[in-house]
Amino acid sequence: MTLGTEWATDWVRASAAVIAENRVELITLDREIGDGDHGENMDRGFSAVLAKLDGLADDAIPADVLKLVATTLISTVGGASGPLFGTAYLKAAGAVAGRAELDGASVAAILRAARDGIVLRGKAEAGDKTMIDAWNPAVEAADAAHANGASELEILEAAATAAAEGAASTEPLIARKGRASYLGERAIGHRDPGAQSTLLLLRAAADSARN
Ligand code: ADP
Ligand code: MG
Ligand code: MG
Repeated sequence: MTLGTEWATDWVRASAAVIAENRVELITLDREIGDGDHGENMDRGFSAVLAKLDGLADDAIPADVLKLVATTLISTVGGASGPLFGTAYLKAAGAVAGRAELDGASVAAILRAARDGIVLRGKAEAGDKTMIDAWNPAVEAADAAHANGASELEILEAAATAAAEGAASTEPLIARKGRASYLGERAIGHRDPGAQSTLLLLRAAADSARN
């Protein structure tokens, strides 16, 4: 079973819902090691995407949905995360251009392109205590699952589980990118907010594939 536009729009709705639910938690995380606006930034962005969803053409394909997310996040989310997630969705859209149905290879390609876009834009490496520490294991898990013949749902489940572990792995780290890098050792013991929102978005992607 492949995933189509309905999955993509369900993913947007689930993302908006889970970001709204976790708005305060993301703010709290960003207050510890940043400027406290990450929950606000993400909620503003995904609320704006949600409002535009009904304006999609009837014949929209998943790439159109991903592009809508990209352009909306870039124009409405301030801070570091707007252009980073915006680039992620833009590259993800490019990876599945012209495809009405997404198979396992396409799903894995979406995640890889998203991660590569964030790296291209933000130049973070593994262990820098950024969202990349959630994206990297997610991409690896998705590729491994795909190589083992997993279904689209199983690939997204593997990615979400790995992203959760990756987000937790940021807690003991000293940050080398973003605002948290100004804190030195004081960042130790706090989870990176962008890694947390990444896990929420990838969990939403998997949950949307189950319905
Ligand atoms: P700002 O820090 O500008 O207020 P946000 O609070 O919305 O923006 O987003 C902060 C998150 O952005 C961090 O938790 C981190 O995951 C991510 N981030 C910051 N800089 C980078 C970077 N260079 N590469 C990858 N992710 C980054
Ligand atoms: Mg912030
Ligand atoms: Mg800010």
